[in-house]
Amino acid sequence: MTLPTLADSPFLPFTRPSIDEDTIASVAEVLRSGWITTGPKCKALEAALSQRFAGRPVRLVNSATAALEMALRLVGVGPGDEVITTPLSWVATANVILTVGATPVFVDVDPLTRNIDLGAVEKAITPRTRALLPVDLAGLPVDRDRLYAIAQQHHLRVIEDAAQSMGSRWNGREIGTFGDLVSFSFHANKNMTTTEGGCLVMNTEDEARLFEKLRLQGVTRFPDGGMDVDVLGGKANLTDVAAAIGLGQLQQLDTFNQRRRALAQQYFERFARDLGFELPPEDFSNSNWHMFQPLLPASLPGHLPTRGAFIETMRTCGIGVGVHYPAMHLFSLYRSRGHRAGEFPQAERIGERTVTLPLFPGMVDGDVSRVCEAVKRVMRGAVS
Ligand SMILES: *Cc1c(COP(=O)(O)O)cnc(C)c1O
Repeated sequence: MTLPTLADSPFLPFTRPSIDEDTIASVAEVLRSGWITTGPKCKALEAALSQRFAGRPVRLVNSATAALEMALRLVGVGPGDEVITTPLSWVATANVILTVGATPVFVDVDPLTRNIDLGAVEKAITPRTRALLPVDLAGLPVDRDRLYAIAQQHHLRVIEDAAQSMGSRWNGREIGTFGDLVSFSFHANKNMTTTEGGCLVMNTEDEARLFEKLRLQGVTRFPDGGMDVDVLGGKANLTDVAAAIGLGQLQQLDTFNQRRRALAQQYFERFARDLGFELPPEDFSNSNWHMFQPLLPASLPGHLPTRGAFIETMRTCGIGVGVHYPAMHLFSLYRSRGHRAGEFPQAERIGERTVTLPLFPGMVDGDVSRVCEAVKRVMRGAVS
């Protein structure tokens, strides 16, 4: 059987940014202005983000990877230190810990939230532990009450990898408005974008000043035109071209996230429960619905032996499916550091079975039904 109605529709990717004409015009304006790198647009976006985050200091960088790495440097994490994190995230989360010379200590995830298991975190704390680096997977926040209770009790810094949770809330309080250091990503696939980019929300202006040095060669400039370099910094400043996009996106963030929540709700209404998928937690108060990720059934039908076959067959139905993420302790780099299969069973189970279905604000009514229908046909072998 063929699928004329599905295959004839335009290809539906698992995500796509929504950039409006006003934003495009504002980029053109920057390009014509004579000042295209870090400047007034970055300042304006930092101010707007700070306002959103309860007046806390916010500084932009050209990726969340840079924000996380510099956050670790900011709190003095280095060789000999341990940082506790999740194995179920984009690999940047653990890579930055290695980059600063420290050791990532993975603990398994909770099977329902798929976020770091805070009970396991307590057991992994050693005298070398310096910081906790939790991730809000798919925009579903880690329990902030429990997280900060653990951090306080053990005198640990927290670097929140909130790359995916822009606009998410924890019991009514927006992520970024409270807590220790909070890092957001503005990568093209995130809920708001600057093409590439990110920011760090900090506690004090002193931290922000050090962060400014770390992001640009360690330089401090003086009013008389002179400068000094007293720490080793890198090169991670954002451009005004990118910041102009961010200013347009930030204005629409709440509308985007509302649309994402409505689409996620449609998935829960329309997804065929009898196919044996494990759906994500049905959360409509905290999550910004960065992704909708069912887990494939534990035993797949004979005509679809692997996740790869599922993804490929969905593609022939005109539907893009992503994988976010395989458990990272099984990557060669981490295996070479002693990690092995079987170490974190929940992260491995989820990492092997997770699929990311289309969810982005530009989806039209009918798209969710189209995806759910395709999943049904693909699983039942009704696709030729
Ligand atoms: C996207 C992402 C990052 C990295 O963000 P970049 O801006 O691409 O550097 C880090 N952690 C998580 C959980 C992410 O989703």
